[in-house]
Amino acid sequence: MPVKVAEEWLNACAGCEISILNIGDALLGLLPELDFVHIPVLIDKKYYGQLGDQKSMEIPEAVVGIVTGGVRNEEHKHVLEEMRKKTQILIALGSCAAYGGIPSHANMFQNEEIFTKVFRESPSTDAAPDPQHANVPRWTDSCKALDEVVKVDITIPGCPPHPDWIVEAITALLEGKTSWSLPERSVCDTCPVIREEKSVDGSVKRLFENVEFDPEQGLDKMRCINEQGFLCLGPVTLAGCAGKSGTPRCVQARTPCRGCFGPIRKGARPMVDMMGAMTSVGLDPKTVVDRRAIMNRYIGGHGNLRPLPARPAR
Ligand code: SF4
Ligand code: SF4
Ligand code: SF4
Repeated sequence: MPVKVAEEWLNACAGCEISILNIGDALLGLLPELDFVHIPVLIDKKYYGQLGDQKSMEIPEAVVGIVTGGVRNEEHKHVLEEMRKKTQILIALGSCAAYGGIPSHANMFQNEEIFTKVFRESPSTDAAPDPQHANVPRWTDSCKALDEVVKVDITIPGCPPHPDWIVEAITALLEGKTSWSLPERSVCDTCPVIREEKSVDGSVKRLFENVEFDPEQGLDKMRCINEQGFLCLGPVTLAGCAGKSGTPRCVQARTPCRGCFGPIRKGARPMVDMMGAMTSVGLDPKTVVDRRAIMNRYIGGHGNLRPLPARPAR
């Protein structure tokens, strides 16, 4: 009998759902085993009945729940809590769900600061005096990863996650396992470039110029991007973005890793570790502009990015 699956998207862009579709041919093999009983991104869904006449939210029970996106407002929180109640195994799919993702950059600011900057003083749209009073769900105090709100059983990180890992995790569940995770190794562990453990000239550059490489040569003939002086978050980022084929996707395109797969292990402090990795090759982390935001780019949940203290008025 097919396994019932419920899927939800919260503070999400749908890129994670595209990754499910990108499974390709293997999806045809999986679909007879799965019964999608709830998936609003594909099927019209009214939470309170088609006519809005139900008193409580309607999410059907399922064995597996998949949730993409983090929690940014009270509606997301309510939907997530309902998904947790109605499903036996909850999967956080993608880095927004796992760590807050790109939207959690907002955690560097208080909500009031954002409202003022983006709504009340917006130079490009009609002003909205206080979006919290409008007829929309209220914001939560910060943009959260799912496990800051409910228990999560399986995390498939990535922005977007690679289809190989979605297949692997779902196959593990169909085989009766209740957990799955990527091995704890870094993007650097899967990167074939030349490393000499020291930077080329000790300077940290912004990506206003290209990484040096010979287009006629393979990656194994290119010098490590970090050692070239461009900030590459490979040392502190979980490997897996290229799926089972290995070589990190951004490095394949001769650009630095930006950290989209998140930390190598739970509880890691990527910013501290990255500063150590830079120092070890002779680069001064203090010369990186906006290093707090850049090194925590995908992981603003879990308290990794907190509002900066208010500056005294001049
Ligand atoms: S993890 Fe990336 S692809 Fe997935 S919802 Fe977030 S921004 Fe979109
Ligand atoms: S720092 Fe970047 S380029 Fe260097 S080995 Fe790691 S992933 Fe590859
Ligand atoms: S190289 Fe880094 S930023 Fe690029 S896809 Fe892989 S994990 Fe994500």
